[in-house]
Order: sequence, then structure tokens, then C-alpha cells
Amino acid sequence: MKVNFFHRGEWSCREVADWPSDNGFEDWLRLLGFETYSYLSLGEEFEVYEAADAEPKTGAALFIVGGFTLHHFVALDEVDYVDLRARWAPAFTASAIHSELEDINRALSRIFRVWHGHDPEWPCMHCGTTEEKERIERRRLKKA
Ligand SMILES: [Zn+2]
Repeated sequence: MKVNFFHRGEWSCREVADWPSDNGFEDWLRLLGFETYSYLSLGEEFEVYEAADAEPKTGAALFIVGGFTLHHFVALDEVDYVDLRARWAPAFTASAIHSELEDINRALSRIFRVWHGHDPEWPCMHCGTTEEKERIERRRLKKA
């Protein structure tokens, strides 16, 4: 598995041991030298882990991004960490907003289905535009 290291605006890459399926995720992180979970909630696909034995402890962090595919980005010290966050913050903010909008859309769709008894994508005689209502009526007359 590849881990990307970020230092003073430059990227480098190193192969590390894959996450063994018989091992817990936390154990695997400890194996890689990351232990302290750093709380940062900018969206569900973003987690930060601090290096366990790096001195000073602040700064070095492992970013884990993605759903089923994990991508690892390590900022080597606090300067790199702040730099990386500043570069990525807009992407994570957008991701958080997108996720929030999906939740709102899902809730509204549910409410609409309860209200109208059909999917909001497909209009009925009560909620369609004039053209849609005419189309529904033509289809109804054809079937009759
Ligand atoms: Zn309707």
C-alpha cells in the first residue's frame, strides 16, 4: 500500500504494509506509527491521526480519505500539516456540504413520497406542470 508524504510543498511516496484483514484498523495504524486520533470533522471521508512517537507530537498526521479505497497522506510536521490543511480545506468543505445536501434531498424525497405517494421525479395530476398534466391526461385517455 502506498503512503504519500508531504513536506514543504513536495510529495514523496513510500510502500507500507497493507492493512491485514485479521488485524484491527487501530492495530494496523499503530504498526505504521500512528496512534492518537485527532478529531477533525469536516466530512465523513476525512480522518486525521497523529504520529504516535513523533516529537513534537503535534503536526505529523495521517490523513485517510475515501470510502472503500483508503488514501494515506502524511504531513511530516506542523508546518506541513497546516499547509496541507489549507490546500485541502476547500475540498473537504465542499464534500461536507455535498453530504449535507444529500441528506436534505433524501429527507425531502421521503416527505414528498408520504405526501403524494410517488417519487418526486415523476409528476402526478396534482404536482405536475401544465404540460405534464396534459401528458398524463392523454396517456389516461389512451388507456381507457
Ligand atoms: Zn404528485
